[in-house]
Amino acid sequence: MKVQETLAVLREHFPGEELYFQAVGEVLSTIEDEYNKHPEFEAANLVERLCVPDRIVTFRVTWVDDKGKVQTNMGYRVQHSNAIGPYKGGLRFHPSVNLSTLKFLAFEQTFKNALTTLPMGGAKGGSDFNPKGKSDNEVMHFCQAFMTELWHNIGAETDVPAGDIGVGAREVGYLFGMYKKLTRNFEGVLTGKGLDFGGSLIRPEATGYGNIYFLQEMLKTRGIDIKDKVCLVSGSGNVAQFTVQKCIQLGAKPVTMSDSNGYIYDPAGIDEEKLAFIMELKNVRRGRIKEYAEKYGCKYVAGAAPWYEKGDIALPCATQNELNGEHARALVANGCIAVSEGANMPSTPEAVETFQGAKLLYAPGKASNAGGVSVSGLEMTQNSYKLGWSAEKVDKKLKSIMQNIHASCVKYGTRPDGYIDYVKGANVAGFIKVANAMMAQGVI
Ligand code: NDP
Repeated sequence: MKVQETLAVLREHFPGEELYFQAVGEVLSTIEDEYNKHPEFEAANLVERLCVPDRIVTFRVTWVDDKGKVQTNMGYRVQHSNAIGPYKGGLRFHPSVNLSTLKFLAFEQTFKNALTTLPMGGAKGGSDFNPKGKSDNEVMHFCQAFMTELWHNIGAETDVPAGDIGVGAREVGYLFGMYKKLTRNFEGVLTGKGLDFGGSLIRPEATGYGNIYFLQEMLKTRGIDIKDKVCLVSGSGNVAQFTVQKCIQLGAKPVTMSDSNGYIYDPAGIDEEKLAFIMELKNVRRGRIKEYAEKYGCKYVAGAAPWYEKGDIALPCATQNELNGEHARALVANGCIAVSEGANMPSTPEAVETFQGAKLLYAPGKASNAGGVSVSGLEMTQNSYKLGWSAEKVDKKLKSIMQNIHASCVKYGTRPDGYIDYVKGANVAGFIKVANAMMAQGVI
């Protein structure tokens, strides 16, 4: 396999899909050596079959807003690979959503899900619908219209969507309700469901908690404790909130959070009470993070990310490419020791190069944010058994999965000088599992 040649083929077939090329380029460059040890992979053209999604469903979503105006949006589901289990991955509702975004996310998801060791393939879906500023009624109507198209393509044993940016408990509830109405089937077709109808305890917390469990494992390799460490967190949605909560529980000091308008910097630290304010602000009132600065009298910086502040640990939990080379150099110069990604691909390639060049502990989201989909997998298991596990049991399993993912990264990513390349480790571990399954199942 030649990375550049493969990328050139993809660029020719799918012009303009830059995020997808970025994700594919990163994976291929790290699995190249492993791939080339197996001539049978090349003979089966595994690389192209692994990069190009199995199937993409595209549809128009038509719904009526509160003023009676007919609105249209685009809807998508990218079913990337079901080599190791049913397609599995979240739905994103955000104006920036297009095919390139969802293809990159579905590709990444395939490797991430393989890393969890649970039987889940990779997928992603969503819409350019913007839930911001919409009433509950409008969100419900949109979700119902979206599911009216999507339901043909999903099912508990075929494809199991979940939440992502702009899709939380409210949206999953509406989507599940419509699926049930259309199919007359009460099944575990979505994860992240409410606790009253098949959801799992710890699912809302899972991505954020898992991120910090992974970070703890990384810190342990250098004998460092998370206690008292100053943490820079971006985002203020699901992943950021529970990343901050776990930091607080472990005695670390989160000092920043952000949204797409700007960030707050609270040198006294965000504690449980302040976090409760953020959760109410973001999850109930759906307000802006600026209000935090007004309430607690701290700094608010509009139109910027928190990476120029001084901190020991950076935890990007908002969106892709939110941390660039310049940010990374500032973090390194300010003494940052570790970066653990809650978001998917939040660091640009230049930022990753900077972190690794400076020998920071750096975890790509594919490894460090896999806790969310892991507990989604556990939710699927509970749904199959028609029972619910205790929070302690799920949390314990989550922690153990994150520790195992860390061990896989160490196994496949440790360089001769002892530095752990978590990007390579995660990609190679995930790739080996998917590749072996594909080879065993023949050319399909
Ligand atoms: P939410 O919608 O709950 O929160 C997203 C947060 O990121 C909000 O604070 C949002 O601000 C901010 N944000 C979104 N887009 C941008 C942007 N373009 N620029 C700056 N800030 C932005 O989503 P999640 O917390 O669920 O997801 C966050 C990240 O974590 C995503 O990358 C997602 O793919 C990843 N992830 C999520 C998992 C999950 O279980 N939910 C699992 C694994 C990964 P605003 O409100 O202003 O838009």
